[in-house]
Amino acid sequence: MGYVGQARDFNHGQHQELRVRKIQDPRFVERRTWCSRGYRLYLGSDAQLRCYQFTKRRFEELNADLRDHGIAEVAHEGREKLWWTGREDLFWADDELSAEDVELLVWDRKRRQEGRLDRLRRIRAREIHATKARRERIPAEVRNFVWLRDGGRCVNCGSEEELQFDHVIPHAKGGGAAVANIQILCGDCNRAKGDLIG
Ligand SMILES: [Zn+2]
Repeated sequence: MGYVGQARDFNHGQHQELRVRKIQDPRFVERRTWCSRGYRLYLGSDAQLRCYQFTKRRFEELNADLRDHGIAEVAHEGREKLWWTGREDLFWADDELSAEDVELLVWDRKRRQEGRLDRLRRIRAREIHATKARRERIPAEVRNFVWLRDGGRCVNCGSEEELQFDHVIPHAKGGGAAVANIQILCGDCNRAKGDLIG
């Protein structure tokens, strides 16, 4: 017996997969007849539809588990169990895993997805920033021309401090980088203009 037990444990150790598979688009549907009320859970696409039926009472038990423990065991199929962890969140997991294990894996999956989305958001923000900067860049010959034309000082107040090339009509409002649309402003005048344009 001891040997059998060991062999079994060994097999289980090999099979156990530390991941959960999310169900796409699960649907709970209420079913009423003249004498009873029940629920059906549909999984999968039309081509490969699976359906689980629950009595009203069983469905209420599942809801109570979900409410009280944050997780409910919905079905057991082969070597997998189906778990319900939130309104529309259902996962298949290895049947060796406990409710707590599954909760941890679901938490880890969500955390990793959020981390990945955060990284993508940051990458995209950087790209947008770089594209914008590239589009707004003023060619060297335009800068040289404008510098000479405006006498190397703010066209508004004459200051020579913190000088910047400014788009008269902002790039965002369709202004280009031709000499007629570029001028020299000091930092204060540029910021004041920015506040004015909003
Ligand atoms: Zn100025």
